[in-house]
Amino acid sequence: MSISTESTAFRAALDVIRSVEPRVADAIGQELADQRESLKLIASENYASPAVLLTMGNWFSDKYAEGTIGRRFYAGCRNVDTVESVAAEHAKALFGAPHAYVQPHSGIDANLVAFWAILAAKIEAPFLTEHTAKHVNDLSEEDWAVLRRALGDQRMLGMSLDAGGHLTHGFRPNISGKMFEQRSYGTDHQTGLLDYDALRSAAREFRPLIIVAGYSAYPRLVNFRLVREIADEVGATLMVDMAHFAGLVAGKVLTGDFDPVPHAQIVTTTTHKSLRGPRGGMVLCQPELAEQVDRGCPMVLGGPLPHVMAAKAVALAEARTPDFQNYAQRIVDNSRALAEGLLKRGATLVTGGTDNHLVLIDVSSYGITGRQAEAALLDSGVVTNRNSVPQDPNGAWYTSGVRIGTPALTTRGLGTAEMDEVAALIHTVLDATTQGTTKSGAPSKATHVLDAKVSESVATQAAELLSGFPLYPSVDLG
Ligand SMILES: *Cc1c(COP(=O)(O)O)cnc(C)c1O
Repeated sequence: MSISTESTAFRAALDVIRSVEPRVADAIGQELADQRESLKLIASENYASPAVLLTMGNWFSDKYAEGTIGRRFYAGCRNVDTVESVAAEHAKALFGAPHAYVQPHSGIDANLVAFWAILAAKIEAPFLTEHTAKHVNDLSEEDWAVLRRALGDQRMLGMSLDAGGHLTHGFRPNISGKMFEQRSYGTDHQTGLLDYDALRSAAREFRPLIIVAGYSAYPRLVNFRLVREIADEVGATLMVDMAHFAGLVAGKVLTGDFDPVPHAQIVTTTTHKSLRGPRGGMVLCQPELAEQVDRGCPMVLGGPLPHVMAAKAVALAEARTPDFQNYAQRIVDNSRALAEGLLKRGATLVTGGTDNHLVLIDVSSYGITGRQAEAALLDSGVVTNRNSVPQDPNGAWYTSGVRIGTPALTTRGLGTAEMDEVAALIHTVLDATTQGTTKSGAPSKATHVLDAKVSESVATQAAELLSGFPLYPSVDLG
């Protein structure tokens, strides 16, 4: 697509929006300007293509399409059937999955669909068979009460939060922690690597219904073949949440034991992180769970978002190209270069490095908290997020870590040489930042002190670096 076509499309859209509510049109324009100026190292963010973005702004948004492809509870869904089929077809081919469900609105929603599909298959279905009932509505009040209690009395084993797991893997603040009795597995205190022996012992002792693997802040690979062996040994279903690293699976960087799809019974993901699609979620599964997964709406999901499913189809088509494989490999090359650049300047990294798209800096060696580091970096034009490190002494709010990831900067075109420059900028800021004090003069975990000369100089260097790699180069809003 030519430069002028994309600029024309976005300019026309903004003109139409401006005629109704100019503040929204201005905010959209400003968002592009802001994103162009910031050095985005948030590991869960990316930049979707103009084609993906444009696919979301149309009349598919007007359509209700509850049900599944060809079996809707609403009339007039043939075009929704088309885009949902295309998205599912691309997802199955891309990931080599027997079944794909592209309706989830987000990663959390995809996980809820997966949990309830597993509960339906392993708890509800056998209960119905035992009571010679076809449907939950056929059960007596007493039997229904027994089933409801059984559904709410199951166990889940998930990766601990401070090892890089996600709230939706059975932690109390999330609904998953209220649904399941949860226990966590973690990483070895010495190496920082996932401790498979401890995982096996926990599984044997706890006998969970579900083992969840996957993470949002673990900088290494997970051997899913090994985790499946453990799950099989205790009769658990292996669910992998690849929300963060789906792009690396799609791009064939994670293969064999490190590709979750052939090993897990069910795999969930977001579509907007390293996969670089629209904001959304997706579930891939083995045939035995397909029917239950397809009940996601209205089981736990609101009506599907056909405009987003259409954009998923476009993004998945993009992900099936050699260009995307090249992109995925560059994400990891860049992440390694970033880690090396930090290490050689004296930073401490959790696990000592990275094998994937993210790096977790333990900023306690700089004498500051994660919150102070995050704020100091933001002052200097570098956007990251604070994150706990294993056995974090500062808890989940202040933390001792900063998580950085390369999917977004790699989309902009930055390479390994630029990653060394980025590492230098990060180190300069962290090295120059000190703890602030409270009003009474005591050391504070929240406020930081950073010489404005340093933050200004780093911000200028970051802007110079980015100016060589324009974001959305084909889009000129005029
Ligand atoms: C980001 C993430 C989610 C949640 O995704 P949303 O789209 O924000 O709901 C779930 N699981 C993991 C592992 C994630 O990293």
